[in-house]
Amino acid sequence: MPELPDVEVYRQVIESGALDRTVTGVEVDADRILDEDLTAERLRNALQGRTLSSTRRRGKHLFIEIGGEDRWLRLHFGMTGRVVVLSGDEELPAHTRFHLNFEGGECLAVTSQRRLGEIGLVEDHDGFARERELGPDPSDDGVDRNTFRSLLSGRRGSVKAALMNQKVLAGLGNVYVDEILFQAGVHPEAPVEELDDRSLKAIHRTMGRVLQTAVRRGADPERMPDRWLLPRRREGVDCPRCDGTIRKSQVSGRSTYHCDSHQEERNSR
Ligand SMILES: [Zn+2]
Repeated sequence: MPELPDVEVYRQVIESGALDRTVTGVEVDADRILDEDLTAERLRNALQGRTLSSTRRRGKHLFIEIGGEDRWLRLHFGMTGRVVVLSGDEELPAHTRFHLNFEGGECLAVTSQRRLGEIGLVEDHDGFARERELGPDPSDDGVDRNTFRSLLSGRRGSVKAALMNQKVLAGLGNVYVDEILFQAGVHPEAPVEELDDRSLKAIHRTMGRVLQTAVRRGADPERMPDRWLLPRRREGVDCPRCDGTIRKSQVSGRSTYHCDSHQEERNSR
């Protein structure tokens, strides 16, 4: 499921290959991926003949400014998704759900093997974030250690659930929360209200480093460092950091992987 690093990589793909070209065609695979107030025809009218002029990302939401329209195309990638920019002679990839053709033959395609997620038009991306009550983006410089601590204070439940809550921080999901907790040495089920200062510091520091590295490596699990959990999310494999074993469990209804040794469980004190 695309999370902050994946969506940031998609943003960069669009930024470097799809801006400032006139849109000559808009194709949507199914109306159900459009926001309720949007139809394929309205989307086509908003984009046809325009250019894409800039991009923004907030958490897992990608916003693409429509030049001269004062509007933004919003993409959210549900279960799977990928963004590619194709040259004129390349064929559309399989499972293309949405694509824009540009003058000159290039094409921006969004593919998804499963449900794509959401396509919308918004006038103001900050307003959208307020409406959805999205928390700050964890890769934002504004989320320093003190802000991070206050975002988590007063929360209940597991640290994993708190970090995945888009109203606390927008952008983290199942895979990267597991990765951050694995590297910070904190058990995913540790109650968030019982985390000591050392753990909070470790999670905050690790979060920044993990997200940065993941984006730099194209959010590709195969290219992640050897000592990461991400390339080995499997029950029973050896931990790359200690002599423990990777275990699978369910936390907040999600498949969770952690090391049974260096991510000690913290019981109530
Ligand atoms: Zn370990």
